[in-house]
Amino acid sequence: MKSSRISSSIATDQSRHAHKGKSPLYLPDAWRAVERRIRRADRIAFFTDFDGTLAPLAHSPNHVQLGQVVRRSLTSIAHNGVVVGVISGRKISDIQTRVGVRGIWYVGAHGYYLRRPGISTLCLLTPLEKTEMSLIRRRLVQRLRGIPGIMLEPKQATMAIHYRQASRQSCRTALAIIEELLLEYPHLRLLHGKKVWELLPASQISKWTAIRRILDFEKGKEKTRWLVFYLGDDITDEMVFSKMRGISIAVGKRRRTAAAFFLDSTREVPAFLEKLCESLKPKSPGEHFPEPPAC
Ligand SMILES: [Mg+2]
Repeated sequence: MKSSRISSSIATDQSRHAHKGKSPLYLPDAWRAVERRIRRADRIAFFTDFDGTLAPLAHSPNHVQLGQVVRRSLTSIAHNGVVVGVISGRKISDIQTRVGVRGIWYVGAHGYYLRRPGISTLCLLTPLEKTEMSLIRRRLVQRLRGIPGIMLEPKQATMAIHYRQASRQSCRTALAIIEELLLEYPHLRLLHGKKVWELLPASQISKWTAIRRILDFEKGKEKTRWLVFYLGDDITDEMVFSKMRGISIAVGKRRRTAAAFFLDSTREVPAFLEKLCESLKPKSPGEHFPEPPAC
């Protein structure tokens, strides 16, 4: 795909977020050090992306499903007093339905919508952005409709254009149309996901700003020493990795990532979550302080 504007945008994003000079550690090998940090923390927050992280990607976003082990583990982590949040580019109702765990935070549209049971949904999209994005969505639908393999997914705050099933020719045509639109609306943000382009409003709302907001809400009045976990697989997750100090975990990526740790693929995520559940359980005194050897 040749597109100077879009190619340079990808390169800029990746170099900005790449881990400077350090390779991430394979998480299972570093688990003892992570456990020590868990024991030292006042409170733990566990945030994660969904597609390509908690659940493997599928040929269509509608076919991505969460496994039972992952769902059970998320429930168990939340029951252990951990603040849990699933943060996605999807619509907030969609992500909540797909994950289906009660009592946790859900963030949709890359941070524009936040929801927790018992609290009304917070929308950070301004009326002006809403109007403009609905116009953009209509224009893209008109212009991209009928290009083979291109799938449009209008969302609450954004517009996603999936090209997983598109030929090179279809991608070229779609990109030219997107570039044309960006000349008309140069303030829009263009995100590059896995086989998806996404147009967002200009405001600096992101997954990271959503996490900051949730932590501020949860911390109360006391000074809290948080240990924050974040799992992700994509460029929007790199922004979080580069800002956070806790346990950042890239799923399926061991190079060109700002994360401190990596897992090889989504297949390793259920075992990691089970291990985390184990580490969160209160230990009996005997487990913390083994009996001294007999004299
Ligand atoms: Mg993802």
